[in-house]
Amino acid sequence: VLANQMNEPHRISVCVRKRPLNKQELIKKEIDVVTVSGKGELMVHEPKQKVDLTKYLDNQVFHFDYSFDESSTNELVYKFTAKPLVQSVFEGGMATCFAYGQTGSGKTHTMGGDFNGKQQNNARGIYALAAQDVFASLNHSRYSNLDVSVYVSFFEIYNGKVYDLLNKKAKLRVLEDDKQQVQVVGLEESHVTKAEEVIKIIQIGSAYRTSGQTSANAKSSRSHAVLQIILRRNDWVTTLYGKFSLVDLAGNERGTDVSSNDRNTLVETAEINRSLLALKECIRSMGMNSDHIPFRMSTLTKVLRDSFIGEKSRTCMIALVAPGMTSCAYTMNTLRYADRVKEL
Ligand code: ADP
Ligand code: MG
Repeated sequence: VLANQMNEPHRISVCVRKRPLNKQELIKKEIDVVTVSGKGELMVHEPKQKVDLTKYLDNQVFHFDYSFDESSTNELVYKFTAKPLVQSVFEGGMATCFAYGQTGSGKTHTMGGDFNGKQQNNARGIYALAAQDVFASLNHSRYSNLDVSVYVSFFEIYNGKVYDLLNKKAKLRVLEDDKQQVQVVGLEESHVTKAEEVIKIIQIGSAYRTSGQTSANAKSSRSHAVLQIILRRNDWVTTLYGKFSLVDLAGNERGTDVSSNDRNTLVETAEINRSLLALKECIRSMGMNSDHIPFRMSTLTKVLRDSFIGEKSRTCMIALVAPGMTSCAYTMNTLRYADRVKEL
């Protein structure tokens, strides 16, 4: 058992990344209450009040597999989170990487990168870095016997419904057969032969994700986006070999805001809470090697069912936190959730 533990990467790894204070936060003189205090360690200085109303900062320490401070790049985060999962995909496993956190904490920056950013050299995110590595591995002698082709699908889940980002946001049905195999009917799978093609697809799909939105109530922050890099055998039936799912989750902020008593927003929020709860339960069940994975609890966990089963499957969660004091309650929420997902 010990030898096994030493050679095998964790089945579930949980990391945290803190983003820097942004321009607006600096202008508002927002106080930074998050400190990356060691390898895998992170501290939150939570503002509290004593009974006599004197204010103080309560230091709360969290431990994860890795913690990344505000100076860390997407490349560095990738190296210690999703990169180790590429091997699992080539060994026929299901690898899954989630970005979790409140809106504005850096989920899309981490996963998708900043393609439409003003900077000249587009910062690549985990989607693109993983695609690069998949093709690098494919051309590596180690896997030269493996006769597979690479396909990409990209979809979003909004209010429990699946929309194909590679097919004009077509609404798709999710079906489960009698063998519990889940299928997204008609989901586009683009055949790709190099990383640049994947990056093109991501740019087009991401544009669809945010199309027709006002920044005030952006739906993209209320939906989960799932990019899948799929390896299929080059047989006449092109059976599934391995799959890498990269998930930019919906913002985890609770709709406790009284001003948003709009019915749609409440329904949206309930659905998000349900799917994030389901996700936590599924990952925990996976970590405990349970036979029962409660994947039917939400559309998100249904379509990702394969991710939670099989000995070769690996999962990585990246919890994203904003550093500001005004985000502190959200940050604590995120860290508590991530803490619960850790393998026991
Ligand atoms: P989310 O997807 O979680 O809502 P975004 O990824 O859109 O958040 O990030 C919000 C803003 O903060 C964006 O302008 C993004 O470019 C910026 N940002 C996020 N993380 C970082 C980081 N690590 N370094 C620099 N800027 C970042
Ligand atoms: Mg986002």
